[in-house]
Amino acid sequence: MFLSERLKAVKPSPTLAINAKAVSMRQAGVDVISFGVGEPDFDTPKHIRDEAVRAMEEGFTRYTAVGGIPELKDAIIEKFRCDNNLSYERDEVMISCGGKHVLYNLAHALLNPGDEVIIPAPYWVSYPPIVVLAGADPVIVGTREEDDFKLSPESLEMAITPRTKLLILNSPSNPTGSVYTESELQALAEVVLRHDIGVVSDEIYEKLIFDDRPFCSIAQVSEELKSRTFVVNGLSKTYAMTGWRIGYVAGAREIIAGMTKIQSQSTSNPNSIAQKAAVAALNGPQDFIQTMLQAFDERRQYLLQRLRGFTGIDCNMPGGAFYAFPNFGYYFNSKAGGTTMKGSADICEYFLTEARVALVPGIAFGDDNFVRFSYATGLETIKEGLDRIEGALGKLV
Ligand code: PMP
Ligand code: GLU
Repeated sequence: MFLSERLKAVKPSPTLAINAKAVSMRQAGVDVISFGVGEPDFDTPKHIRDEAVRAMEEGFTRYTAVGGIPELKDAIIEKFRCDNNLSYERDEVMISCGGKHVLYNLAHALLNPGDEVIIPAPYWVSYPPIVVLAGADPVIVGTREEDDFKLSPESLEMAITPRTKLLILNSPSNPTGSVYTESELQALAEVVLRHDIGVVSDEIYEKLIFDDRPFCSIAQVSEELKSRTFVVNGLSKTYAMTGWRIGYVAGAREIIAGMTKIQSQSTSNPNSIAQKAAVAALNGPQDFIQTMLQAFDERRQYLLQRLRGFTGIDCNMPGGAFYAFPNFGYYFNSKAGGTTMKGSADICEYFLTEARVALVPGIAFGDDNFVRFSYATGLETIKEGLDRIEGALGKLV
């Protein structure tokens, strides 16, 4: 038996792979500190878990409508109305098994072989493979650290060809934490409209923004923009519900219908119990988010202050999400034992073996000069991890 051609161009998710490695090292008795995978270290709030128990006890355990229960669609519609001033009907909304699954369905509903999808780098690891699995071509457009890793309208314009179908935007960004302002989105929107392309706006970190900065979705720029934008969001990060697998999308109804058709022939509905829990999450008290955000903020401040104190390291202050993306280029070509640090993968391998600290190399996000830290872990752990990194850096010559 041979693997399909399609699979040859795709690697497993590096973020999940690093998590698996850290977990297996821990199981083998190694005290690894992980800044690897991006998932909140908080428990799903009790009222959400209670609702899941209730749903189960009441027998809400059968297939549901493929694209999600009406009650959850209504909660999502209400969220868009209150938070983003965006209005959608039920047939413009669909629920899938996590934001990742939404993106996968979207790619399959929208893309043909030969279509190009513009992905600003640094990008979240799964965007290019999802595009490739749908038979289309990712077009990676670099951004600059000094522009806070944001795509400029000029770079967007230059990357557009007659084959361009979509632009993927992610604000707040994984891995950089950058947050686009309204005027930056307006400038990009102008190019999008002029070239008649679509936008996938991944807003999964929408609620995790620091310093009281406002969140803006590109779909809010104008009705015309909204009609060509697919807003992707989910419960994983905001409500510490990564394992429940609930994500959602809002956009043009004929594409939503196409995605529902794909879902009907693949996973069917997302988990019925998780959908009920998601209704409780969206409609219930939201104060948990502030508590979590405060903890992330404290860690962000500490992490940044320590990183910036390390010889040769610089790091932009992340405005949102729970990642920092420092530049480790200073250490390239330095040596440990017989090994030369040629790029972010070598540095991360060195930290894992020498300091027992798991990090994700920037190369996985399309920029080899950087390393991603997820600070969704306790302050004491962060402190210990940074002490170890500092020690390991000191041994590089
Ligand atoms: N988008 C971004 C930018 C992410 O970091 C993640 C990571 N989990 C997702 C989408 C997908 O999350 P999930 O499938 O858990 O909803
Ligand atoms: N998005 C998270 C991360 O970047 C979770 C892992 C994944 O889904 O790839 O670490």
